[in-house]
Amino acid sequence: MTHVKNLERLKGKENITQSGQRIDICANIGTREDIENVIRSDAGGIGLFRSEFLYMENGPKLPTEEQQFQVYKLAAESMGVKKVVIRTADLGGEKQADCLDVGHESNPTMGMRGIRISLEKEEVFKTQLRAILRASVYGNVSIMFPMVTSMEEVAAAKTLLEKAKKQLKDEKTAYNENIEIGVMIETPAAVMISGELAREVDFFSIGTNDLLQLTLGMDRENPKLDKYYNPYHPALMKMIRIVANNVHLEGKRISICGDLAADLSMTEFFVQIGIDELSVAPHQVLGLRKKIREIQ
Ligand code: PEP
Ligand code: MG
Repeated sequence: MTHVKNLERLKGKENITQSGQRIDICANIGTREDIENVIRSDAGGIGLFRSEFLYMENGPKLPTEEQQFQVYKLAAESMGVKKVVIRTADLGGEKQADCLDVGHESNPTMGMRGIRISLEKEEVFKTQLRAILRASVYGNVSIMFPMVTSMEEVAAAKTLLEKAKKQLKDEKTAYNENIEIGVMIETPAAVMISGELAREVDFFSIGTNDLLQLTLGMDRENPKLDKYYNPYHPALMKMIRIVANNVHLEGKRISICGDLAADLSMTEFFVQIGIDELSVAPHQVLGLRKKIREIQ
């Protein structure tokens, strides 16, 4: 209890080290109900809205544009000037939704998922993009694409975004023309082309959960692999450094939103290499702030 009270005292305080280095702390959410927790957590915004939960919780019917718009608008309005990064649906893999059947796959982790599904199911994707764009006038909203592996995917996603904008413009519906676009770095391919990607989009977030399993070639949910599954693997550390360098060379921002972002034994390293933002579960925000404020 005393521990919780001590953390409560950090509300309103900066995320700053003893020597004056700052790093943003944002929160990860999946549902409308989580928005309240972010406000209570004193996070600097929503660094990752896992929008696929809107699909997974909607039974056999796809969530409509209006349904999605209402949730995104609520997030935007609740955060005020603080950012809301909405990741387009990262379905497939371990996140299956009844409303979006991708058929049987023998290896779903490496199958139809993330941006690949969105590009395959254009109308579903466009519905989501329209909902996000419409919500963008109610706050500081940006869009992030998951499981990216190539420049072509990003180009195709941007083309569909432009189409959605044009439709809204023709309908005289308001949206933010300059909405920022981000890419998740969670495949080794995205790490290797992060320099090129950084010329195409505004910001990045490293998804260490997928990046680790794909780099090690080990299923993150297989308990038999626990003794091999090293979240501090030097390969992952090198990748994070490479991405941070490439992204900063282009003057863009880099965050980390996988589980490793909340690992307090990693915080000093992330600050040292200049990570701009860590996005963690709402209940982890103040503990992370405490850790940052203790760093020399
Ligand atoms: C990740 O892969 O680290 C990530 C944040 O995405 P998710 O955990 O939703 O796959
Ligand atoms: Mg992921």
